[in-house]
Amino acid sequence: MVHETGFYDLLGVSPKSSPDEIKKAYRKLALKYHPDKNPSEGERFKLISQAYEVLSDPKKRDLYDQGGEQAIKEGGMGGGSSPMDIFNMFFGGGGRMQRERKGKNLVHQLSVTLEEMYNGATRKLALQKNMVCEKCEGYGGKKGTLEKCSTCKGRGVQIRVQQLGPGMIQQIQSMCSDCQGQGESFSAKDRCKTCNGHKVERKKKILEVHIDKGMKDGQRITFHGEGDQEPGLEPGDVIIVLDSKDHPVYQRRDDNLMMKMEIKLVEALCGLKKTIQTLDNRTLVITAQPGEVIKPNDIKCVQNEGMPIYRNPYEKGQLLIQFQVAFPEKHWLPEHLMYQLERLLPTREDVMVTDDAEEVDLCEVEPWSEQRSYSREAYDEDEEGPRTGVQCQTQ
Ligand SMILES: [Zn+2]
Ligand SMILES: [Zn+2]
Repeated sequence: MVHETGFYDLLGVSPKSSPDEIKKAYRKLALKYHPDKNPSEGERFKLISQAYEVLSDPKKRDLYDQGGEQAIKEGGMGGGSSPMDIFNMFFGGGGRMQRERKGKNLVHQLSVTLEEMYNGATRKLALQKNMVCEKCEGYGGKKGTLEKCSTCKGRGVQIRVQQLGPGMIQQIQSMCSDCQGQGESFSAKDRCKTCNGHKVERKKKILEVHIDKGMKDGQRITFHGEGDQEPGLEPGDVIIVLDSKDHPVYQRRDDNLMMKMEIKLVEALCGLKKTIQTLDNRTLVITAQPGEVIKPNDIKCVQNEGMPIYRNPYEKGQLLIQFQVAFPEKHWLPEHLMYQLERLLPTREDVMVTDDAEEVDLCEVEPWSEQRSYSREAYDEDEEGPRTGVQCQTQ
């Protein structure tokens, strides 16, 4: 029994969701609210990460389901990790040590269709990144002309004095804007005109992302050294995370594909022939022999028509077909023909009715009456409240 659902709500998942669903939800939200992309949502990013830290750990999730956030705190299981660490661990970004020598990794999510993961595809992704200025080679100006900043006298900070009232002054310290806190700058004539002394330029870069056959939702494709450049630092990586879109017909289950197929009662009983459009646009024909009875929710499979296996694409999983049987509408057969049908169907069993048995009406269930009966149960427990029972509508 789940009492508190706050962490689930934060991730937008139900308390019954699987570890995979929780992963996927975190992945989407963490990328959306990451401070790099959404600087004003820092608090939200923190909360999402906290929720994920608890729900991704079976022990902590159990504890949370039983006693809520309070139990997590009391159990000393509260978030020890920073949101950034959780994020980096999830997306395989560098740890703190690595970050000192290396620039930041950029993580992007790429929405892909099931067809693209089935057939393979190449997608072009345009991104903005910092590149070391080619003109000044990241120096910022003419070599050997760097001078002590005259605005801050080399301190890198500016101190502003503010008069608050008679005899009261306040000193405000801020980073020197002329030298960006470096303490050194180029005079206007020596400063690189291309990067304006910033050493890097914002440039558009096109990455070709190869989606291989059989790749999965959440799979990462890493472009080493394609992250932001900074003079003196090894550039970080660009990490592309695949996010699969839902497909109207097929659902993926690892290497298998699952589809639902509605068939008529006659097909369920007397054999069927149906076509299926594959994800690479071939047409498959399936047949069931007359007499091979297909029941509602029966699952049958076609070998080697599922998803291609990653890195071994000539092999494929199974295509699973779950059948739904559409029964005919009411009164589809005139009553005088019913007995002919009955003669063909397996015989029914006679029912013994004793004298003290009560005959009752069999009614249609309306959605509202089902709700009513739930609320009545709730009232029964505390013996209070209205007792509006379910009313049977007999016509
Ligand atoms: Zn300065
Ligand atoms: Zn430059």
